[in-house]
Amino acid sequence: MRDAQTTPCAPQTDLQAVLDRIAQEVPEAYGQGHVADYIPELKRVSPQQFGMAVRTVTGEEFVVGAADHQFSIQSISKLFTLILALEINGEELWTRINREPSGMRFNSLLLLESENGIPRNPFINAGAIVVTDTITEHSSGPAKRIEQFIANLSGNPLNRIDERVTASEKKTGYLNAAIANLLKAMGNLRCEPEDVLNCYFKHCAMTMSCRDLVRATQCLANREDAWFQRKPYPHQTARRINALLLTCGLYDAVGNFAFNVGLPAKSGVGGGIVAVAPNQYTVAVWSPELDDYGNSVLGQLALEKFVTYTASAVL
Ligand code: GLN
Repeated sequence: MRDAQTTPCAPQTDLQAVLDRIAQEVPEAYGQGHVADYIPELKRVSPQQFGMAVRTVTGEEFVVGAADHQFSIQSISKLFTLILALEINGEELWTRINREPSGMRFNSLLLLESENGIPRNPFINAGAIVVTDTITEHSSGPAKRIEQFIANLSGNPLNRIDERVTASEKKTGYLNAAIANLLKAMGNLRCEPEDVLNCYFKHCAMTMSCRDLVRATQCLANREDAWFQRKPYPHQTARRINALLLTCGLYDAVGNFAFNVGLPAKSGVGGGIVAVAPNQYTVAVWSPELDDYGNSVLGQLALEKFVTYTASAVL
């Protein structure tokens, strides 16, 4: 049995005090990373910023710093497109994407050719592009559909695709174009690579805040959440997505992240990370400086401190 003293949802744990303490402590790590620069528009973001939000399964929210700042969610969008693609395709999706960590950079092409065009998991770019293909195939306006889906989950109609970020990545997204073309050549893309990439760049360019992220992912923490209750197997769906987040959500840094934090999570090169503690809470952090793996430096540090101060890791 979990000790009530250490359960973040329990009144004894002052989550606001925990967040305030973290916000005071993490700035010492400023300057240890770099803002993503391979998408030119992201380079314009001021690096030394920090925000964090927590939402308990009982619906209480706590925030600190720039928790309401809208930032580019980038790869965090892959979590939402996976949920939508599973809704559209069901089990068939797993005939086209595996469920193993890749041990490679998120935009690596290496494994794709030797593994017959079947991406290792839905969160590396190759897997996410297949996910986007399935949504594109079954939608008249796929990017709009994803935008609305995310805004519905977060409850914030202001969550939108940033067209400047989209255009910026489209101009320089040669690796993603190579991945999409290889997938097409190997028979694992049904739509035209250009159409799939257009949609992919758009959903990566969605903007959300930490507060939006903890709301949009509550269905993964709270199995009684109305959205998941409408699904035929809500527990299984949430369990599976959390398992993929734990094993593949931070790419080739996922082992260290599980070691230090121990929560299912998804990161993006915009500097955001969202994490899920099933039956307890969701937590999101944003800070734009990234380490060599493309994960937020302060974000990882803040999450490690959070699970430590609340003794709430799930592993
Ligand atoms: N849009 C980015 C890309 O495809 C997303 C990468 C990320 O956030 N890790 O490169």
